[in-house]
Amino acid sequence: MRPTDLQPAPASASLYEKHTTVHPKRIDGPFRRFKWLVMLVTLGIYYGTPWLRWDRGPYAPDQAVLIDLEHRRFYMFDIEIWPHEFYFVAGLLIMAGIGLFLITSAVGRAWCGYACPQTVWTDLFQHVDRFVDGDRNARMRLDKAPWTAGKAARRLAKWTIYLVIAFWTGGAWIMYFADAPTLTREFWAGDAAPVAYATVAVLTGTTFLLGGFMREQVCIYMCPWPRIQTAMLDEKSLIVTYKDWRGEPRGSLKKAQKAPDAFGDCVDCNQCVAVCPTGIDIREGPQIGCITCALCIDACDRVMKEIGRPRGLIDYATLEDCEREAAGAAPRPVWKTLTHPRTLIYLGVWSAIGAALLFALGTRAHTGLTVQSDRNPPFMLMSDGSVRNSYTVKLRNMQSRPRTMALSLVGLPGATMWTDDMSKDAATRQFAREVSADVTLPLRVYVIAPRGTGGGTFAFQVTSPDGESDSSETAFNAPEPPR
Ligand code: SF4
Ligand code: SF4
Repeated sequence: MRPTDLQPAPASASLYEKHTTVHPKRIDGPFRRFKWLVMLVTLGIYYGTPWLRWDRGPYAPDQAVLIDLEHRRFYMFDIEIWPHEFYFVAGLLIMAGIGLFLITSAVGRAWCGYACPQTVWTDLFQHVDRFVDGDRNARMRLDKAPWTAGKAARRLAKWTIYLVIAFWTGGAWIMYFADAPTLTREFWAGDAAPVAYATVAVLTGTTFLLGGFMREQVCIYMCPWPRIQTAMLDEKSLIVTYKDWRGEPRGSLKKAQKAPDAFGDCVDCNQCVAVCPTGIDIREGPQIGCITCALCIDACDRVMKEIGRPRGLIDYATLEDCEREAAGAAPRPVWKTLTHPRTLIYLGVWSAIGAALLFALGTRAHTGLTVQSDRNPPFMLMSDGSVRNSYTVKLRNMQSRPRTMALSLVGLPGATMWTDDMSKDAATRQFAREVSADVTLPLRVYVIAPRGTGGGTFAFQVTSPDGESDSSETAFNAPEPPR
């Protein structure tokens, strides 16, 4: 009977794999340099964006990217999103989701390997490890060494740097929600809102823990995205793969030099494993722990160069190409995988949503109104037989300057209107109001129609001096005519 056949697990068996600390070795190469570039750009954007200024005139904040929860606005350079335009944010989120599918279809788990925040911060913390404790061997020795004053000092120094990075990360996050220079001053003076301190504390703690200690555990056990990606990958997907038909049987360089025909190109130097940030051996085949960062490609290419063999024993390739190559065909250029029909479909959908959002953004009006009629009572019958309905009308001025906006009645012949700040005697079919920059002006509007007017619909229309207008149809309630 095989050990897995319906036998209870031995009493000593654990449900969980024992955690082994990964100490990736320093490596240089084109993919490592690309990772440096992505790290600099992504961290630069994250930490620097709240400090960018953008002149929107005297009536709007001058922070380039701002989520203004208090006034319910989202600013991004020249774009200002109001709450009723949340569909833009929903569209961007949908684009981000489809963008992940697109990236996975085109270049496999490149998001995980280069741009995911967990990857970027883990990479940063691993550089801190190297800076404080040295490279892989020195760190492994230090881990095994007994606790001494020197080891404690190194640990303290390292964790302090972790904490500073984590605090800076949490601090940068809250800057997106208020004017960054003002909030910084208030934060250090103890005058910021409690939620700001709580947010920084939570993000400092999670960054410290996830980037400093949990690292590859997050990718392998906690994050759902690798599972979803695994379902999306097929034999046409680009993955980092070890070309076993070329590398096996593996043997040390010494053995291979003695019997060149008996061994493949892999000299079993273990460099690909030593540099791997998740600590896996890519020679065991594609696996969920591989975030396709390609550092093992850099390591193996360097070994191949040193021993005078062609590069690419570990390389980006599709499983389909691997089979063709193993059968003797020439390697296919990687860019050809980008024209996979599924990739083109994702690109088409992603581009169409993007174009629709851009069109909607470019053609949206900066004048608007919403109307809500009173439900109780639905109408008032006046002593002269005329009928009055009441409404709350909100005029929206979405420009960053004050504008005079005219409100008028469309339909409902003979009807006039007035507001709380007008006399009923001044009732008219159109009046104007000055609406401050970037605000919604609520008005109580009373519409009165002559005796004998029946129920029906009409519209309020708002027009701004630059010709923009918006209208909203609503009901006019009246008593049933006598039978
Ligand atoms: S196996 Fe290679 S590509 Fe995969 S995570 Fe490790 S180093 Fe990166
Ligand atoms: S780095 Fe290359 S040669 Fe060395 S063990 Fe890995 S696959 Fe083999």
